[in-house]
Amino acid sequence: MTAGDAESKQQAQLAENESQFRNIMESAQVGIFVIQDGLFRYANAFLLDLFGYVREEVIDRLGPLDLIDAEQHAFVREQMRARQSGVPGRRYEIDARRKDGSMFPASILGSPSTYAGRPASVGTLLDLSVQKAAEQRIRELADFDPLTGLPNRRLLRDRVDQLLAVGERDGTPVTLVFLDLDHFKRINDSLGHSVGDEVLIALANRLSTVVRRGDTLSRLGGDEFVLAMPGISTAIAIEVARRLIEECSAPFHVGGHDLTVTPSIGITLYPQDGKDFDSLLKHADVAMYKAKELGRNTFQFYAADMNKATLDRLLMESNLRRALDNGEFLLHYQPLVCLRSGRVLGVEALIRWAHPELGLIMPDRFIPVAEDTGLINPIGDWVLAEACRQAQAWQEVGVGPLVVAVNVSPMQFRQAGFVAAVAGALAASGLDASLIELELTERTVMHDAEVNLGTLSALHRMGVELSLDDFGTGYSSLAYLKRFPVGKLKIDRSFVRDLETDADDQAIASTIVSMGRSLRLKVLAEGVENAAQLQQLRNMACDMAQGYLFSRPVPADEMLALLQTQPFLKMPETE
Ligand code: C2E
Ligand code: MG
Ligand code: MG
Repeated sequence: MTAGDAESKQQAQLAENESQFRNIMESAQVGIFVIQDGLFRYANAFLLDLFGYVREEVIDRLGPLDLIDAEQHAFVREQMRARQSGVPGRRYEIDARRKDGSMFPASILGSPSTYAGRPASVGTLLDLSVQKAAEQRIRELADFDPLTGLPNRRLLRDRVDQLLAVGERDGTPVTLVFLDLDHFKRINDSLGHSVGDEVLIALANRLSTVVRRGDTLSRLGGDEFVLAMPGISTAIAIEVARRLIEECSAPFHVGGHDLTVTPSIGITLYPQDGKDFDSLLKHADVAMYKAKELGRNTFQFYAADMNKATLDRLLMESNLRRALDNGEFLLHYQPLVCLRSGRVLGVEALIRWAHPELGLIMPDRFIPVAEDTGLINPIGDWVLAEACRQAQAWQEVGVGPLVVAVNVSPMQFRQAGFVAAVAGALAASGLDASLIELELTERTVMHDAEVNLGTLSALHRMGVELSLDDFGTGYSSLAYLKRFPVGKLKIDRSFVRDLETDADDQAIASTIVSMGRSLRLKVLAEGVENAAQLQQLRNMACDMAQGYLFSRPVPADEMLALLQTQPFLKMPETE
């Protein structure tokens, strides 16, 4: 065998080896590549298929950076540099980009090598899609309810724990809303579990529409759902509960049936109702049962006092604001009658709220809310302006001297700009100051009497009349009464009601009358409903009276008729 023969045999052997290797690489079910100077010098069929390229598009034209997410470029560039300079690599994961732009997770392992006699790196690439999807599925099974796809109790606990950690750090409240369907078992028992399941899936979809970013709606199992919300006020919790009930209310069309379900909802708030997930959830459950006891299809807060009173209050607050904006308030007027002449000397303006759905709402129901929320100030300003406007309108049609009395709440009276507000209302209407009277309660003026004396004096100097409303129920100091520039005492209705029968009430009323006389104050009796009361008051020489006996509070136009006819002038004179 000649040297040439040996050499050519060796060559043939080499060529065969190489083609064998190539075949192996080409049929391998893993991506194999060679990179040099940042470009692919070799890529096997599997890799090309995976990315959706043909060989000519890739070899010597594209580099790894063209096939991966831009965010990972820096990292991969660093890896390539290391391989090229001979540093062995470790497996790492990338987000790979196919020719059509779609992405898939891949893992890469590269090692330093040579290609055509120069340094290069050779590597393998594995498609991780299937593995990742399986991992995701496992995570879902652990964290999500398989029926509805909602987070399960385990994930809910995680999320709530996170919210509580934030809450503890920066004081953000956390709200848990526990929803349980009423009589859901009946659907399962009568129509079968598959119908029940369909209802739960449909319900989960509807409830999801109420959820904001950052909230977690979860299914605990059965027909129990829990919504966890960060940073929620009581008012919004109510709003959410209402919307959840609303979402349940439309019938579910399942398996040819129209099914109606109602929920009972319990609400707990961190921190007041519990400091950790378990106690919050337990208390939400307790509140939910309370809602069931109350007749179902409703919600309850865990903290008992949050329930009825606060709910009404909060709902009223936003409604009150809207009522003011929408002009839903109006004034009725009740005559203040002189007991000697029977003439109507004045009228008291009494606010009403014409609610679009509930009808006329009386001030005892909404004034306390307005006072608690500070809305009394704008509402009071409106009352002042409207009463002055009406008083001036009556003057212009010639009803003669008539004082319009306006109730002033303590908060309104104490606000800094009150005197200016009164002056403003008078100026805007053109009304003479002597035709307006402000009714203040004893409590209002006696509390911090020295401070109030200044305000009262300023009003008095303007020419405005002042009266003490609900007199006898407070704790007036005679000393102050003498110093206050008040012109009238209004005996509270509670002393007038049983005037014919109750000797104590008689004593109180007549004491107020004679005290008023000695202080040169007018005395008016409120709540006079019958002739017997009227007679007693006349016997005491009480100056004025107000009550259903004369007239209920009436709208302005009815009052005008009454002012023009003066029907009490001819009232039978009693001794
Ligand atoms: P008030 O100032 O003591 O007003 C008298 C209340 O007694 C009125 O109730 C009136 O309708 C009622 N009344 C009058 N005559 C009789 C009667 O013969 N029998 C009975 N049972 N009741 C009679 P109303 O209108 O419900 O007002 C209740 C309270 O709401 C008022 O008591 C006053 O404190 C407050 N209020 C009314 N309007 C305003 C307002 O514009 N601003 C403020 N801050 N409070 C107001
Ligand atoms: Mg009054
Ligand atoms: Mg009163």
